[in-house]
Amino acid sequence: MKDVAGLFGSMVFNDAVMHARLPKDVYKVLKKTISRGTHLELDVANVVASAMKEWATEKGATHFTHWFQPMTGVTAEKHDSFISPDGNGKIIMEFSGKELVRGEPDASSFPSGGLRATFEARGYTVWDATSYAFIKDGTLCIPTAFCSYSGEALDKKTPLLRSMEAIDKQAMRILKLFGNTTAKRVITTVGPEQEYFLIDKEMYLKRPDLVFTGRTLFGARPPKGQELEDHYFGSIKPRVSAFMKELDEELWKLGVYAKTKHNEVAPAQHELAPVFTTTNIATDHNQLTMELMKSIANKHGMACLLHEKPFAGVNGSGKHNNWSISTDTGLNLLEPGDTPYENAQFLLVLVAVIKAVDEYQDLLRVSAASAANDHRLGANEAPPAIISMFIGDELMEILEAIESGASYKGKKKLQMEVGVSVLPHFPKDTTDRNRTSPFAFTGNKFEFRMLGSAFSIAGPNIVLNTIVAEVLRQFADKLEKSKDFTKDLAELVKKTVADHKRIVFNGNNYSDEWVKEASNRGLSNLRTTVDALPAFISKKSIGLFTKHSVFTEGEIHSRYEILMEGYCKVLHIEALTMVDMVKGRIMPACIEYQNVLAKLLERKIACGLNIDMTLEKHLLTEISKLSACMLAKLTSLEDALNKSKDKHKDMLTLASFYRDSVFTAMSELRLIVDGLEMLVSKKHWPVPTYADMLFSVI
Ligand code: ADP
Ligand code: MG
Repeated sequence: MKDVAGLFGSMVFNDAVMHARLPKDVYKVLKKTISRGTHLELDVANVVASAMKEWATEKGATHFTHWFQPMTGVTAEKHDSFISPDGNGKIIMEFSGKELVRGEPDASSFPSGGLRATFEARGYTVWDATSYAFIKDGTLCIPTAFCSYSGEALDKKTPLLRSMEAIDKQAMRILKLFGNTTAKRVITTVGPEQEYFLIDKEMYLKRPDLVFTGRTLFGARPPKGQELEDHYFGSIKPRVSAFMKELDEELWKLGVYAKTKHNEVAPAQHELAPVFTTTNIATDHNQLTMELMKSIANKHGMACLLHEKPFAGVNGSGKHNNWSISTDTGLNLLEPGDTPYENAQFLLVLVAVIKAVDEYQDLLRVSAASAANDHRLGANEAPPAIISMFIGDELMEILEAIESGASYKGKKKLQMEVGVSVLPHFPKDTTDRNRTSPFAFTGNKFEFRMLGSAFSIAGPNIVLNTIVAEVLRQFADKLEKSKDFTKDLAELVKKTVADHKRIVFNGNNYSDEWVKEASNRGLSNLRTTVDALPAFISKKSIGLFTKHSVFTEGEIHSRYEILMEGYCKVLHIEALTMVDMVKGRIMPACIEYQNVLAKLLERKIACGLNIDMTLEKHLLTEISKLSACMLAKLTSLEDALNKSKDKHKDMLTLASFYRDSVFTAMSELRLIVDGLEMLVSKKHWPVPTYADMLFSVI
């Protein structure tokens, strides 16, 4: 058996390594920097850098890189070697404190949404000392934040760290009100469950749509899909199992707590869940997980598809963001406690989340918006585009009792007065039954289920941290002035329940009735990315983020531009890929097959015998008809693409045009091509079919 404990974190410059390798005083200063986010002096940085280099070179590393998360959604790295000429034609291995704490990558090719144009062309990266350095592929990777020269965030990590500071500050005020003197910090924690597909690499490489866009743009339904539900939690195939084993080991080396793995609902679909950790580390780890999934799949002759909807008509992939708030002493604020005071605190935090989700539904929806995720949300496999919360019947009864002032007649017959009674613990089983809710309370955490599988989890957690920080701020403002804390607290909880319970829905989120009911309740239903994104630049949103110093107004506008532009680009590339596939592969295949049929007919006629030709005639007629149709639809798509050039007035106009015209033309073309796929012989069809791909790994 592998020595898992020995393997775990072996490629991470973690606390144990720091403790062992740094002089005591340096270690202490660094720890302070890490826990309080204070500035690291250069002389300390020099010592840390030198120890890091020693450790990394012993492990075979030759290069270092500032590892960062630009707005592309994937990570970026530029490798520098440790070598430095020693003046005598030889080299020494060097790594300075300056190189550790700050880098200056040429930032001009990363998306900035106009930020850099107005300020400086270059950007710089700064070490995020709260996330440990690690070795990947012989390179020492230093997790960093990426900013413009004037300090604007150009990445996903900077605002995430700022949002963690915001919630820390406000939650500490609340804890103080409850007499907590031991906690020094409040952090949010996340455990992201990651779904993905694995298909055979050879099949993958034969599908330009998968290679260029991550999803199949054509493909008729296979005879067997997920109907039999025989894949979910089914036994894992040997090739997949070998992949998962290596993935686990590589992740463990990097200190990622990969824990659970299983088959998912769709054929060829799987899931990996780590043990939760601090949000910014969970974010780094999730990026690493996605990266390793791809590279290790490749090694095993497979392709890992992280796209939200690689196969139409088959369940897509999402990411469940399990989120909670806890103190540095390990107290989970979303866990009912053992004393009335702890319970009152739990209820206050719970209703704060309820209020935050209700008041900022739009922003949560924005955080789950992408062209790819539009294929899932509301498609009966993932939560709809409507945000609601599930809290379970028991907790609902408690909140209702608080609202009406009645006593709670639950199993334990408790008198429900906030601050007086003891709440029952909610075993996970009683709260985790609703898998259709976009935002579910699961006993001691919330599970935000709208995220797409390819997402960086930074965005959704920036929103979650900030909206909850804002509500906690309002609560703290009120309660800090209170003369009768228990009374005012009870009133605040009661009023919050009354004002915001419309967001709680414990029923089936996939039903049509819910869509109607939600509209009656006044909940927003932003169906597409284009509908959702404008909420990000609303006055309310700008007010929220600037108040908590998470984003500047300029940063919000630049991100909005990047997101809208990204949406258009995705659709543009998809449309071009479709045109290319139809012209270069599908049309020629149809012609070839028609030629075969026509030749057969010709030969049969030439025989002069009275041979039946119904089948050939039927096929030839149908394929000819559909082929003409395909040509017409192709022309429409090309027209739409041409017209898009005149729509550059503003991003919203352009994105709306892509959604309404380009995407519609794409869908119409696909319908015809999928019809042709059912008629043309498999031998002639130019790309692997759904059945080929979904059942390719045996
Ligand atoms: P599920 O029923 O959704 O599979 P699990 O108990 O297996 O639930 O947990 C799912 C994820 O939630 C795991 O990644 C787990 O680490 C994470 N999780 C558990 N507790 C917390 C917490 N307090 N904060 C954040 N994530 C948590
Ligand atoms: Mg889950």
